[in-house]
Amino acid sequence: MKGVALVTGASRGIGRATALQLAKDGFAVAVHCLHSIDEAEAVCHQIRANGKQAQTYLCDVADTAAVHRMVQDIQLALGPITALVNNAGIAQQKLFTDITPEEWHRMMAVHVDGIYNTCHAVLPEMIRNHAGTIVNVSSMWGQTGGSCEVHYSTAKAAVIGFTKALAKEVGPAGIRVNCVAPGVIKTDMMAGFDEETLSALAEETPLCRLGTPEDVANAVSFLVSEQAGFITGQVLAPNGGTVI
Ligand code: NAP
Repeated sequence: MKGVALVTGASRGIGRATALQLAKDGFAVAVHCLHSIDEAEAVCHQIRANGKQAQTYLCDVADTAAVHRMVQDIQLALGPITALVNNAGIAQQKLFTDITPEEWHRMMAVHVDGIYNTCHAVLPEMIRNHAGTIVNVSSMWGQTGGSCEVHYSTAKAAVIGFTKALAKEVGPAGIRVNCVAPGVIKTDMMAGFDEETLSALAEETPLCRLGTPEDVANAVSFLVSEQAGFITGQVLAPNGGTVI
């Protein structure tokens, strides 16, 4: 099953690598992001240079109406969405007692409302077509909890619960829903960490390095593929062995 992949947050980092990989796998790709139009256009350009279709879409995943409009636009321009990768995300390191109500709600809105919005918009057609697969991007902090990231960890744990419940519900309709829970991956999201902290994190990793966006993209590509045809409701963890 190929077709059209929507990758949210695909202007940079993990989403960008995933969009490029899914294009290599044969998908036409809707390259989505919030603001970074030039970066998203560059991803599309690279995909088109390799002979595949790609189109840029901008919207806030937390905005229900905007997500529904985007999905309609993608269906009209590229065709039915057969693979949805919910990757868009934000991070923040803060003591729990310093997290404001606005920061708390924004974290939930982007990660939890975001996947509700995209899945709600995409699933009716997937169910009608009895075909489709969804991969949600969680985090190892959603599995173990991260100090000074209580709101992020809560949202990412919710992504895992969402994945498992939805997998059970839409499995009979022929739709698989899985999750990846990456460890520390070198992207803009880690830009706030100094080199010393990053090398300490690499040292704590059994495979002795930080992850790359491609490490995660390869895991997503597998979960989307027909080789993963009997896998649903699972959490695949490209984390170098940090969480076992
Ligand atoms: P990144 O480099 O910071 O990129 C984030 C992407 O999400 C960008 O494309 C950004 O769009 C988009 N985005 C952010 N907020 C959005 C919103 N409200 N609506 C739509 N798009 C939005 O992040 P990354 O490191 O690749 O992370 C990607 C995913 O992996 C996130 O869900 C993150 O939580 C998860 N993750 C990352 C790590 C890590 O160590 N990096 C580890 C585990 C899990 P703009 O470019 O327009 O801002």
